[in-house]
Amino acid sequence: MKNFGLDIWANKNFIIEDGEIKLNYKCMPSLLEITNKIRANDVKGPMILRFPHLVKRQIKTLYNYFEKAIEENKYQGSFHAVFPLKVNQFPAVVEAVTIQGEKYNYGLEAGSKAELILAMSKTPKGAYITVNGFKDEEMLTLGFIAAQSGHKIIITIEGLNELETIIDVASKCTLAVPDIGIRVRLHSAGSGIWAKSGGMDAKFGLTSTEIIEAINLLKNANLLDKLKMIHFHIGSQMSDIAPLKKALREAGNIYAELKKMGADSLSSINIGGGLAVEYDQHEQSHARNYSIDEFSSSVVFLLGEIMDAKNVTHPDIFTESGRFIVASHAVLIAPVLELFSQDYQEKLLNFKESNPPLIEELIELNKLLNNANCIEYLHDALDHIESLFTLFDLGYIDLQDRSNAEILVHNIIKKALYLKSANPTNELEQLQIKLQERYLINASVFQSLPDYWGLGQHFPVMPINHLNTTPLRAASLWDITCDSDGEIGFNPQKPLYLHDVNIDEEDYFLGFFNVGAYQETLGMNHNLFTHPNEYTIKINDTSYEIINAIESKNILDILESLGYDKDHILDKLKSDLSTSYFITEKEKNDTLAKLETFIYQNGYLRTTN
Ligand SMILES: *Cc1c(COP(=O)(O)O)cnc(C)c1O
Repeated sequence: MKNFGLDIWANKNFIIEDGEIKLNYKCMPSLLEITNKIRANDVKGPMILRFPHLVKRQIKTLYNYFEKAIEENKYQGSFHAVFPLKVNQFPAVVEAVTIQGEKYNYGLEAGSKAELILAMSKTPKGAYITVNGFKDEEMLTLGFIAAQSGHKIIITIEGLNELETIIDVASKCTLAVPDIGIRVRLHSAGSGIWAKSGGMDAKFGLTSTEIIEAINLLKNANLLDKLKMIHFHIGSQMSDIAPLKKALREAGNIYAELKKMGADSLSSINIGGGLAVEYDQHEQSHARNYSIDEFSSSVVFLLGEIMDAKNVTHPDIFTESGRFIVASHAVLIAPVLELFSQDYQEKLLNFKESNPPLIEELIELNKLLNNANCIEYLHDALDHIESLFTLFDLGYIDLQDRSNAEILVHNIIKKALYLKSANPTNELEQLQIKLQERYLINASVFQSLPDYWGLGQHFPVMPINHLNTTPLRAASLWDITCDSDGEIGFNPQKPLYLHDVNIDEEDYFLGFFNVGAYQETLGMNHNLFTHPNEYTIKINDTSYEIINAIESKNILDILESLGYDKDHILDKLKSDLSTSYFITEKEKNDTLAKLETFIYQNGYLRTTN
């Protein structure tokens, strides 16, 4: 895995230079430099770094490719996009999306009442709000309020009952009526691990019979002019473009048929989200089989073709891609706290004037090991260590000899594994799994990478320093929750190698990339670890700024959010300590002060790292 697969997943957003990973933008700060700057203010534990320029880049890419496809295909409709809030509702993200998207009239999509309220307060006038998901009368009324307040809002109905409620609300008040979309239930299903949103048995959408019924309901209520959009969404992280094409044909033909049935104001097709992000670090398994270029061209070309065949004006195209827009903007920085088997370092070797012959042989093997001889030398070393263990048991060598032997053999195995890492033998693979190094990271997988825990989704991971030396240790990552699921195990098919570092002497940080979509609000407070500290990094030509710092919830606040009385907890702890015996008044007071500091910090570890 050369350069940790940077050329596969990083989309040129990052580059490796001088042994560090840097932002490939303007003054090009390194992640290590930013991390150290933040940590200089006594910040410990994991943190999320946000880069708004990467949100801008994705929005621009999306619009540019669709506009290019529209021009190339002489397509008559226009292109619009909205950001689905469920992908990341954090303030710094919504701000980046709305500010960077303003010149495109980039809007917001809401799937719940809370998200709709957020959209109504944050969508710039002139940009669209689209609403999906199941809705009650209250939520639909909010849609009327948004329309009345001047928003361009389109409510997509997921079932006939929602339409009936809209008609009912419209008849009861004189508020402006929002535009209406219909989510169609397609017989073609999506692809990828999230593909539950399409298909005949999908959770959402109207069948053909229901669509006809909807048209009649709208006609009878005199609201047919409010029907503007046909909507579908075949699931997130589409790995294959073929199902999208199928869905487009189906939805395009439904659109054309409805136009023929007199739905004159119908003017747009919303193709939902699903545009995939490359999370893979290894050559053999890319997450998607298409580019944004192919994606946009296919959508525009196909819709044009269907409409031309049926002699229908080209509809405007809406997309709701979320993952594609924000996944790359966030990096999780997790300090490594410990390597579990630091004891086998070469520098701990302590030879004698004269060593036992087998140890002398191991020294030679270790020195002369190379690509051509490594399997043979490895077998010799494994053979020798068996003999050395026997000699130790029989009392012929001492503990120092044994320690030297273990370090040497460990080292020989590590070197052999590395030399053959491109093409390991079965035997080496087994050794590798046995000898992997466990890196303890100051973060929670449950909080910060929930899709790894829940779906096995891999996120690109790499150290942010040491990049001018070759990593040799097969690595598994352990988080600080006391749950055995909080582990990212070593996968011999997609190996991760990290550096052999001495954490007592130097910092070692891992960066997890493309974590900006879905992870943050899906993350859970397992063991009461909360959302990490977060920072927005604004990069300029000659300098960068660290803004919008939000600290992780402190221990008392997380307990309070569960419903505990935090004053009571604090009082109880203090009074128990105050009334204890056998320490001086001074030590008591110092300890009370310490207790107070601890309890107002977040729960991540504060050991050296
Ligand atoms: C979740 C969702 C999206 C966003 O999907 P991405 O894969 O993040 O692009 C878009 N539209 C609807 C209706 C959704 O439910």
